Amino acid sequence: MGSELNRLTISEARERLRRREITSRELTRDCLERIAALEPRLNAFITVCETEAMAQAAEADRRLAQSDAPSLCGIPLGIKDIYCTRGVRTTCASKILGNFTPPFDATVIEKLRAEGAVFVGKANMDEFAMGSSTENSAFGPTRNPHDLERVAGGSSGGSAAAVAADECLASLGTDTGGSIRLPASFCGVVGIKPTYSRVSRYGVVAYASSLDQVGPLARTVRDAAAVLRAVAGADPRDSTCSARPVPDYERALSGEVRGMRIGVPREYFVEGMDGAVEGAVRGALKRLESMGARTVEISLPHTDYAVAAYYLIATAEASANLARYDGVRYGLRAGADNNIELYNRTRAQGFGAEVKRRIMLGTFALSAGYYDAYYLKAQKVRTLIRRDFERAFESCDLVAAPVAPTTAFRLGEKTGDPLKMYLSDIFTISVNLAGLPAMSVPCGADEGALPIGLQLIGPPFGEEAILRAGDAWERAGGFARRAPQL
Ligand code: GLN
Repeated sequence: MGSELNRLTISEARERLRRREITSRELTRDCLERIAALEPRLNAFITVCETEAMAQAAEADRRLAQSDAPSLCGIPLGIKDIYCTRGVRTTCASKILGNFTPPFDATVIEKLRAEGAVFVGKANMDEFAMGSSTENSAFGPTRNPHDLERVAGGSSGGSAAAVAADECLASLGTDTGGSIRLPASFCGVVGIKPTYSRVSRYGVVAYASSLDQVGPLARTVRDAAAVLRAVAGADPRDSTCSARPVPDYERALSGEVRGMRIGVPREYFVEGMDGAVEGAVRGALKRLESMGARTVEISLPHTDYAVAAYYLIATAEASANLARYDGVRYGLRAGADNNIELYNRTRAQGFGAEVKRRIMLGTFALSAGYYDAYYLKAQKVRTLIRRDFERAFESCDLVAAPVAPTTAFRLGEKTGDPLKMYLSDIFTISVNLAGLPAMSVPCGADEGALPIGLQLIGPPFGEEAILRAGDAWERAGGFARRAPQL
């Protein structure tokens, strides 16, 4: 104790592991001790994998003893409980998968295992990734490490809180409508949602398949770049995954933003936004200008329709994806006399209220007589939103915006009003509809010391530019990470 290796960044830990100053076992033990101390208050993990993690760390130490260990060898990570992990329960924060232990690994888990990464646990989330606060978890909400009365954001709230609270060095989340960026912003860590198709989704429990994307959360942009590189790339088992070669993202971090044109969308600075959020984002833009970037005003005229279009498309896809939970093949099985009763009872008992609401909304939007009015129209709006961005990227290299209109809200503040909750995603959703990469990087704090995120959005496969700008901002002093007082 006392060494607190769990506070290191991946870059620092990697160096010290290579120089044999520390072992992965020591590093992993410090993370597990931190988890044991904080979890009763934080609830960032659904399952802690103590024994497995220590065995992986021992194996990593053996690899590190030989030369040329991969970049994440021995690094303790948290994994959102949406990733199938062989032999380790994967619940998706739902009662319906409460007893499900996958017989296989998701491709990204396989890749991280090959790197020698250590998995300390399965992180809490909103049930089936539906939510913006991690309050829709069957295992209770995750609390924000900066203020335990507040939400961590969602749906990857456990992944963000665990990194912010130094329970692990980085984590994996997923982002369908903002689920990496929103919790990253609320918890004061870096989170990147890559371009749609950049990372394999094989073995990732599906929510809305035309929007879902895998991505890392970390304490620095460089660390996020390292994890992204390890998980990205083609996968013969996921035909939606791009074959485009994966760049060495860390090499893109030149610290330079000179000449970069940053678009500032008029529609993203709206009434109802916290003064502190607007101030921090505008302050960051000024700073980037002083470093040689140029800001240009742009317009994304269909922004107003994004939330409506998203909540039609996402729920429609979810209603189809979630049809597989019927009590027959895996997960919860309710007692029943016949098949129909089995389906009904299993689904009635297994799904939480928000998931049921989404299945009903989606089924309605797809049903005969309503399809054209809702689903089809939403798809057309989606095309218009994608075109807005295409046009914008003719005059800029990146778009900068807030991640959310507010800082972390109080637990329970929005649970009674789904629409209010959906509106938390107002600045993140368009990016998923357009399939673009985007990152949240800490850029300030409000009067209550709650973190604020700056969102950097790129054109398709523009991850390097996003990471370069975010890293340059961090190096220039950006916003020094304030460790939560726990
Ligand atoms: N909050 C959004 C939703 O509930 C986004 C969730 C996500 O990105 N997984 O659908």
